[in-house]
Amino acid sequence: MKKNGHRLFPQDLHIHTTYSTGDSSVTPQQTIEFIAQVGHARIIGISDHLEYLDDPIFSRYAERIRAQGLRLSAEVNGAPWVDRARELGLEYYIYQCFDRDADYKGAELLLQTGNPVIIAHPLLLDTNLDKVPPECYIEVNNRYVWRFDWRLRLQPYVKRFSFVIGSDAHTPNWLAQHVARYVAEELGINESVLF
Ligand SMILES: [Zn+2]
Repeated sequence: MKKNGHRLFPQDLHIHTTYSTGDSSVTPQQTIEFIAQVGHARIIGISDHLEYLDDPIFSRYAERIRAQGLRLSAEVNGAPWVDRARELGLEYYIYQCFDRDADYKGAELLLQTGNPVIIAHPLLLDTNLDKVPPECYIEVNNRYVWRFDWRLRLQPYVKRFSFVIGSDAHTPNWLAQHVARYVAEELGINESVLF
């Protein structure tokens, strides 16, 4: 499917907007409405950092995302934020799973909601994938994957997990997945489309 003559990615579920107010990489042009207008993927989900989505900000955030027909999520910063994440009715979770027992447990708690749990950029956070429940999706992240020895670190898990590809976009020109797609193809990963 194409929009404005360019080919669309199947999905992009890891995207930040101006709601990630404390994240200095986000630019003021990166609004929910702008991302919807660019329409770089068939399925688009917004996942701002949960730390910046206190009430009543969250309600407005959710309303604006739904008004654009996008999927509602947030990026959950390890175990301390799991309870809050479970309260909010998010459609899926972008989960930062650090190499801590509590964080692996947190992944299980998020899975209990029945909604998809995506392990965000595991190479960046040194997530031990042996300890991650196999029902979680592993993200191949366009922003970070090239900085690591992805062949060595991801190849052993290609059969154990399902994978999604995400841009982790913070600015309009990061709404892209080219490096992540190259990595996935090299590893023989079949991308899972969640919605
Ligand atoms: Zn992110």
